Amino acid sequence: MKTVKARNVVFEYIRRDEEGNVEGINTAVDHVSLDVNPGEFIAILGHNGSGKSTFAKHINAILYPTEGNLWVDGMDTLDEEKLWEIRQTAGMVFQNPDNQIIGQVVEEDVGFGPENMGVPTKEIWERVEESLKAVGMYEYRKHSPNKLSGGQKQRVSIAGVLAMHPKCIILDEPTAMLDPNGRADVIRAVRALNEVEGMTVILITHYMEEIIHADKVFVMDKGKIAMEGTPKEVFSRVEELKALRLDVPQVTLLAYELQKRGLPIPKGILTTEEFTREIQKLRNPVRRA
Ligand code: ADP
Ligand code: MG
Repeated sequence: MKTVKARNVVFEYIRRDEEGNVEGINTAVDHVSLDVNPGEFIAILGHNGSGKSTFAKHINAILYPTEGNLWVDGMDTLDEEKLWEIRQTAGMVFQNPDNQIIGQVVEEDVGFGPENMGVPTKEIWERVEESLKAVGMYEYRKHSPNKLSGGQKQRVSIAGVLAMHPKCIILDEPTAMLDPNGRADVIRAVRALNEVEGMTVILITHYMEEIIHADKVFVMDKGKIAMEGTPKEVFSRVEELKALRLDVPQVTLLAYELQKRGLPIPKGILTTEEFTREIQKLRNPVRRA
């Protein structure tokens, strides 16, 4: 079964004037169809206003399609009876960790979710421990969240979602408010969840370097899916990415420019290591017999 299956999802925000008359309709998601398989690491990219957050909120049943359908683990989000099960299956982490942390002590904060779900006390503590360990924050369990850095707070928010034992975690620009160290720590924790725990991850970001390890990338533009493929496939299409106003990584651009000038470098270079390897091949060509 697909973890997420979207078919022709359309979402319209309706603008009304003071009397409640419709002033205009903004189609934020425009016929999006996509599949997410269990255990996949999916990245969603796109310029501001391209509809990423609006789409993500459908997976958590915060918003429902105006047209089309979206299923989470086989449950149609239009089915009101499934609302809580859907929200438990697909947990969401937002941009600002300060809006997500409510506890006075880290472990208490992480325990809120399972407590509200009626999980027995002993199991709550087991879940809190395992979740904090999974994001590398166990040693901070007795700390006050207020004293943590942005990156640490965001990892506590992630632990709070994990403690509800979701099958899928959606992160909507979780690193946007963090410094480079905090960003790296959060991404490392998210990758470990996916690789070690087999958790399905949907990461929305505009930092290109965060999507290098994704299994699949979707690029959104004006509510539509404009590009999809592996990171390598997507990053091979430099001109299209630029046209969609996305910042292509420096090393990808450099490789692209060299390739355009005739050097035999493959498309879709993503890392400095890969680039260096290709340049070394040029310096030491394999001798032909
Ligand atoms: P992204 O997350 O890619 O920046 P959003 O999903 O937030 O994009 O926004 C998509 C479009 O929907 C934008 O045009 C935005 O202005 C509009 N939009 C977002 N939230 C609302 C809202 N609450 N009411 C009306 N329009 C909205
Ligand atoms: Mg957004």
